Amino acid sequence: MPLTQIEQYHRPTDVDAAWHLVRDGGGAAVLLGGGTDLVVRCPPAVTALVDLSEVGLRYVEHSDDGGLRLGAMSTFTDLLEHPEVAAYGTGAVGEMLAQVGSVLHRNSATIGGHVVRSRLSDVLPVLLALDATVAVYTGEHAELPLANYLEGEQGPHVVTEVRLPPPIPGAAAAFVRFTRTTFDHSIVNGCCRVDVAEGAVVAARVVVGESSTVGRRLSAAEDALVGAPLTSEAVAAAADAARRTADLHGDWIASAAYRQHLAGVTVERCLTTVIDRLQGGGA
Ligand SMILES: Cc1cc2nc3c(=O)[nH]c(=O)nc-3n(C[C@H](O)[C@H](O)[C@H](O)COP(=O)(O)OP(=O)(O)OC[C@H]3O[C@@H](n4cnc5c(N)ncnc54)[C@H](O)[C@@H]3O)c2cc1C
Repeated sequence: MPLTQIEQYHRPTDVDAAWHLVRDGGGAAVLLGGGTDLVVRCPPAVTALVDLSEVGLRYVEHSDDGGLRLGAMSTFTDLLEHPEVAAYGTGAVGEMLAQVGSVLHRNSATIGGHVVRSRLSDVLPVLLALDATVAVYTGEHAELPLANYLEGEQGPHVVTEVRLPPPIPGAAAAFVRFTRTTFDHSIVNGCCRVDVAEGAVVAARVVVGESSTVGRRLSAAEDALVGAPLTSEAVAAAADAARRTADLHGDWIASAAYRQHLAGVTVERCLTTVIDRLQGGGA
């Protein structure tokens, strides 16, 4: 049975105390966010939970540069109900959050626990496309790009915030996912962000994910967009590049070939929405 091995339950009141408990626990102690992941797959060696609910990480604040700082213990419901977070990325954040799990699930799952978990994610493709960063505490505070955080080996650490950079004028983004049912992991998901200046694309993020990976940027699709106007021809070229280069897996839910096809459809739909949003004024 999950969690029956737990012998100690800590509820520290500051991040440093939480970090010390995990570091000194040597693998027997883990941090507890919303618990949605831990309750279904808690490592057998874990005998102590370090509950983060009292350390003061449940907030949304503005950063000095005009971006947003999402406290790690913010639930998906907190974020979805926060108008600026939901509207961030011309609404891509809100449209993604509204599709994550169920309402009950979103009431518990935290953004911090999600980035640590790093799998089966609709959230990470959007955060990657929006150039989010992660703030971590390891005895001292540090900030690193989400992509670096996901690639690196992390020792004992507390994720304290996910940070969204200041909105870029002339940029728009969109999220799309394909699932068998609304309460199911994505077969394929993706987020595209396009920055336009003086009629041409100056930067693009095309991120495609699937159920077994966290999503990755597709440079060939991004290259197909940069340097020219965002036309339907450019969208088709980017979708084709995504279809050819997404390198997705097959499993019992969908074949690799089907996922490759959906990668192209995902990018095409995201970019078509991006065009609509740019014509509506961008973010
Ligand atoms: C039934 C179900 C349906 C789901 N559906 C979707 C979906 O549709 N789309 C989607 O994207 N995701 C989905 N998920 C995944 C879900 O979003 C994650 O399980 C959730 O976000 C994890 O957050 P949590 O706060 O519950 O993490 P927890 O379970 O509390 O912790 C997860 C891991 O992170 C560690 N941790 C927690 N907080 C911190 C912190 N601040 N710093 C450092 N380490 C920390 C824990 O020690 C643990 O290792 C689903 C999960 C379930 C169980």
